[in-house]
Amino acid sequence: MIGIIFGPPGSGKGTQAARIEDEFGLKHLSTGALLRAEVSRGTPTGKEVGRVMAAGDLVPDALIVDIVRSLLPEAEEGPGVLLDGFPRTERQAQALDAMLADEGHRVDFVIALEVPEAALIDRLLHRAAVEGRSDDTREAITERMHEYHKLTEAVLDHYRRQGVPVERVDGTGSPDEVFERVRRVIGISSR
Ligand code: AMP
Repeated sequence: MIGIIFGPPGSGKGTQAARIEDEFGLKHLSTGALLRAEVSRGTPTGKEVGRVMAAGDLVPDALIVDIVRSLLPEAEEGPGVLLDGFPRTERQAQALDAMLADEGHRVDFVIALEVPEAALIDRLLHRAAVEGRSDDTREAITERMHEYHKLTEAVLDHYRRQGVPVERVDGTGSPDEVFERVRRVIGISSR
């Protein structure tokens, strides 16, 4: 089972993905977390990636596709994989589809979290105060929203065109309330 948790910055993808991993055993693969780990290792790639992330831009498709390609086979050995923050462009989606097709797999479902933009910005500014993420500044947030609308939203249409179930879930309210909605949707998709 291969799922994608999808949504704009601040929509709660990471929070919901961790809960889905606990409840359904799908391995949570977050490209943002992988990149942050690379940055904290201080490698030359990490330094370059850190600059791109802090500006709120997307890292190059080829880099992120290579990272996912190196990790996906092991993740696929378990009951399933939940991709968080990937794919973020049409190109990444095509690369993912090709990787999965090599193994005889495909994307089984997409959960698209929906939260109004004003609430997203509030959440991200709150997270900035709590976690101090370098890309939760007002400028970087604006850029991330812009990239989301310009490049990432198209990924939903990519999967709709293929007939993959794209389940829209109201992402407002507490993490528990959102998870109740997510749980219902995954229960239906996996039947
Ligand atoms: P996230 O934790 O998913 O919000 O990602 C944080 C940042 O990591 C993004 O704003 C991008 O700079 C970078 N990033 C994460 N995933 C990707 C991806 N699939 N493609 C390009 N950049 C990514």
